[in-house]
Amino acid sequence: SCLPFLAEGRVVKGFGRGSKQLGIPTANFTQDVVDTMPTDMIEGVYYGLANVDGGSVSRMVMSVGHNLHFANAMRTMETHILRSFADDFYGGLLRVMVLGFIREMESYTSLDALIAAIHSDIDIANKALSEERFASCYDSDFFKHGF
Ligand code: ADP
Ligand code: MG
Repeated sequence: SCLPFLAEGRVVKGFGRGSKQLGIPTANFTQDVVDTMPTDMIEGVYYGLANVDGGSVSRMVMSVGHNLHFANAMRTMETHILRSFADDFYGGLLRVMVLGFIREMESYTSLDALIAAIHSDIDIANKALSEERFASCYDSDFFKHGF
């Protein structure tokens, strides 16, 4: 539904679930950006492209879900960019282009299973995003100027 999907906004502190400790930091958007997501967007893991503060465009995997602590009312959109950064970029301007769906959300019985699933998501994202049909997306004006 509704892909590709573009979003831009500031990066804020997440819920401190320790993603970074697992080697999988996820940048969170402010709630007003999350609220621009299509309401029929299936909860799960997506792949696409992203950049920070107009910088180089990298591949990403993004989870779209809801926060259980707020009785399903609040949705979340968490982007793991497939490159390393020297520093955190809280407050930075994140732009994402969501290009494809990987899988629906699942609850994993162990941390190892969760990490294995994310590594498999990253493999799927890298394969898909090296396809010729996405080649022109990396140079999109959106990553330089926004909407
Ligand atoms: P939080 O709960 O605050 O989201 P995380 O452990 O998920 O904490 O870390 C996310 C933060 O890590 C991002 O907001 C960003 O500043 C930083 N970060 C560093 N490298 C990356 C990356 N490759 N992808 C996403 N965020 C990254
Ligand atoms: Mg996070």
